[in-house]
This record gives sequence, structure tokens and C-alpha cells, in this order.
Amino acid sequence: MAKEKKPKKEKSQLAENWTYLDKRECLNCGEPLPDQYSKKRTYCKEVRDENGNLIKDCKGIYNRLLDQPELEVHREIIKEHKTVDDMIEAMVAKKGDMVSTADLNAYDIQLSASLKYRLSPNGTLESDFLKYTIVSNPIHNTHKIYSHG
Ligand SMILES: [Zn+2]
Repeated sequence: MAKEKKPKKEKSQLAENWTYLDKRECLNCGEPLPDQYSKKRTYCKEVRDENGNLIKDCKGIYNRLLDQPELEVHREIIKEHKTVDDMIEAMVAKKGDMVSTADLNAYDIQLSASLKYRLSPNGTLESDFLKYTIVSNPIHNTHKIYSHG
């Protein structure tokens, strides 16, 4: 490598003088962040239009994204399990607390949708839902439903 002039530290904030040696990237959009940005900065600078409206707000977007998905997923899970619980409740009302696999299927109750499950040494499978536990005997294809809510 031949002599390479070290770029002078310019006071200028012109983009053409920016360097990207630190290889920092905006957490939101992945745009490279110039070394000239404060070390603490982890997002692009916000950009406003002439009316002062935010047109680029990586920090805001990222924070909203951070908040949302988990909440959304959580809500979805709760919603889904409430539905499964409703199905179980409806089935128990009609069929009692000892049902067959065909009954589960008829009510579209998927054991795999349980919050958690345990496989006992004797071969039974316990599937936990929000309000119910279903203990399944795979040999007899019977399922006993316990309410715990
Ligand atoms: Zn960005």
C-alpha cells in the first residue's frame, strides 16, 4: 500500500466527509452510521420535512417494533388458547370429561396447541391449556379432562 493520506478531521458535517471505519449500523434500518455521529447514537438521525413532520424516525420505529411483536404474539396466544378452552368447555358440556380422540377432532381441539405437555412413564400425555389439563391415553385413545381454572 502506498502512502495513504490520513483524512483530516474536518469540522464539516458534510456527508462527503463522513467515514464509516467503525462499521456501525442503524439498529432499525441497517444503514451505516458515520463515525462522526456520537458514539452513543445507534440510529439514523431523524429527518423532518419542511413542515416539521418526522419523515425518517428510525429510533421511534425500532422502539415501536420492539414493543409490539411480543405483545401481539402474546395476545394471539391468549386469544388462541381462550378459543381452545372454549372448545374444551363446549365438548365437556356435551360429552363429559372422558372423551375419545374422535371427539377431540370433532371439536377441533389440537393437543399440540397446548401451552405445555408432559409425557408420563406410563405412556399418558398431559397437555396443559389455560383452564384445562387433558390427560391422554394413547393406547385406548381416551382423554380425561381436568379443569384447573
Ligand atoms: Zn436508520
